[in-house]
Amino acid sequence: MLKEQLMQVEENIQKACKRAGRSRDEVTLIAVSKTKPVEVLQEAYDLGVRVFGENKVQELTQKYEALPKDIQWHMIGHLQTNKVKYIVDKVAMIHSVDSLKLAETIEKEAERKNCIVKILVEVNVAGEESKYGLKMEEVLPFVEIISTFKHIRVCGLMTIAPFVEISEENRTIFKNLHKLSVDINNKNIDNVSVSILSMGMTNDYEVAIEEGADMVRVGTGIFGVRNYAV
Ligand SMILES: *Cc1c(COP(=O)(O)O)cnc(C)c1O
Repeated sequence: MLKEQLMQVEENIQKACKRAGRSRDEVTLIAVSKTKPVEVLQEAYDLGVRVFGENKVQELTQKYEALPKDIQWHMIGHLQTNKVKYIVDKVAMIHSVDSLKLAETIEKEAERKNCIVKILVEVNVAGEESKYGLKMEEVLPFVEIISTFKHIRVCGLMTIAPFVEISEENRTIFKNLHKLSVDINNKNIDNVSVSILSMGMTNDYEVAIEEGADMVRVGTGIFGVRNYAV
């Protein structure tokens, strides 16, 4: 079942790339494996998956220890400052940087571990009360500040679009995040560049790709529904 679902997602990504006139290798599929046991991740690994997304520090570090070392782990969930130290030298990227305090903590812990951490700034494009992330107008000043940090590399922007039944309804969200990144890059500020867009989940990754997503985060579409009770 996992194999079929993975193949289906891959096919959908290829079609979306084609519609958008983009090359397939412009888009990274992040297999969001949160709540799934190590055996299931191993199965995905055996099918060729090397990029996984997790949203909890403890779960990420446990899976990191248990699984092959050529996996790229993406931290996609809200990150508490006191947990940063457990992951800075283990993750390929942190997608959920949403405060100066968090960025400063990542800088400090990365310096301590002598590594450079790639990060994305989380943007609350729709302005939903319930969501983490910076407001659109806060992003540029924030990026200007943290781009000066020596142990952080600001790579781009991330958003979690609202849950909608019809993916088309999120197209404007993705367009707006894309436009924000273009606007920031056009300012040509030294050391400031936001080229990667992490947007699109199971319900809307195809629309996100059409609107310029470089990374899509797909969980349910690959692994099936999550059971939070276990
Ligand atoms: C869980 C999660 C996803 C994947 O969601 P699906 O709808 O299962 O594809 C993507 N991004 C973030 C930040 C998540 O927490």
